[in-house]
Amino acid sequence: MSDITLGIIGGGQLGSMLAISAKKLNIKTIIYSDDPDAPAQNFCNKFISGDYNNKEKIIEFVNLVNYVTYEFENIPFETLNEINKLKPVLPKPSVNRLIQHRLAEKDFVNNLNIRTTRYASVENKSEIEALEDLLPGILKTTTLGYDGKGQFLIKSETQIHEAWEKMAGADSILEGFINFKRELSLIAVRGIDGSLEYYPLVENSHHEGILRLTIAPAQNISASLQKKAEEYMSSILKEIKHVGVLTIELFESDDLLVNEIAPRVHNSGHWTIEGAQTSQFENHIRAITESPLGQTTITSKFSAMINIIGVHGPIQKVLKTKNAHLHLYNKEERTGRKLGHITLASNSIDELNKMIESLKEYLP
Ligand code: ATP
Ligand code: MG
Repeated sequence: MSDITLGIIGGGQLGSMLAISAKKLNIKTIIYSDDPDAPAQNFCNKFISGDYNNKEKIIEFVNLVNYVTYEFENIPFETLNEINKLKPVLPKPSVNRLIQHRLAEKDFVNNLNIRTTRYASVENKSEIEALEDLLPGILKTTTLGYDGKGQFLIKSETQIHEAWEKMAGADSILEGFINFKRELSLIAVRGIDGSLEYYPLVENSHHEGILRLTIAPAQNISASLQKKAEEYMSSILKEIKHVGVLTIELFESDDLLVNEIAPRVHNSGHWTIEGAQTSQFENHIRAITESPLGQTTITSKFSAMINIIGVHGPIQKVLKTKNAHLHLYNKEERTGRKLGHITLASNSIDELNKMIESLKEYLP
């Protein structure tokens, strides 16, 4: 594998962790980002900074690599499509286009007979006014949202005007609010030969739209629930002929509902770096470089992942915690920003819960 150079578009923490995993496999990485200060530049072999529409710079980047992948969704489809004419882009640009758009994504999932929240497209104010039966609901921009950005919780119809003003005319989708029991996610990887490996379902806790804590595996998951989630996954992966890692965010209510799909490594899979035989990052790289997939079996009975959000907090305490692993992203502190994460591992759930409790400064 030693002559492979992988191009990664996007320079955040996911790009950093992909580059770190690539290095272990002797794969060189070149990162392209529109942010000249992108944190991932510290982890790759070469860093190129340019706009995602800058054809010349993009070509310079493409000429240096064998494969191209990306670590976030909001890259212009035309850019990925042009690159794909020269070097294989995985996941395929068409998959990214589908998933970039919340409405297209939800229609796609429902067409596979997989349940989601109830939803409707909103292109003007009178359209939301006609959707009272979807309230309480969440109005979300159809494109460009992440970490809960571009969303407005409409508790009652008196807030419709305010919600619409906040969206500033952006095409949106109104989703019925789900009183879920909990949030889960499933991560899987599909190889170029169609082989498939699933990680166990994990449980995610969010605060203000941002993931704060993941417990892996999720507790009290019946065999039928895991099976149902895997069936959702395999029908999605097969339909789009996906290559690489894909994540499904789920709501567990009386049924299992899909919230969103991310055709990439995911924050709720960071525990796999220490907690699984092969991390999600390594498996993504294996898949897109046409290599055999690694095992997804867990190495400790229980793992947890705590996000470090906004401020770095008591880092020394983390370093002192037994079986804790610290990952910092080289980012400046800023409200709501993901600065790093901590993974914890134990063979006892009680001990794991104690470890989480001991780091409660990191949890809202
Ligand atoms: P991310 O990039 O972190 O996945 P996002 O901006 O794409 O976030 P969503 O996943 O749609 O946004 O929403 C973020 C969180 O808001 C969800 O994980 C969930 O906690 C809550 N949420 C979103 N939609 C709904 C809904 N219809 N009902 C109840 N809660 C919801
Ligand atoms: Mg989400």
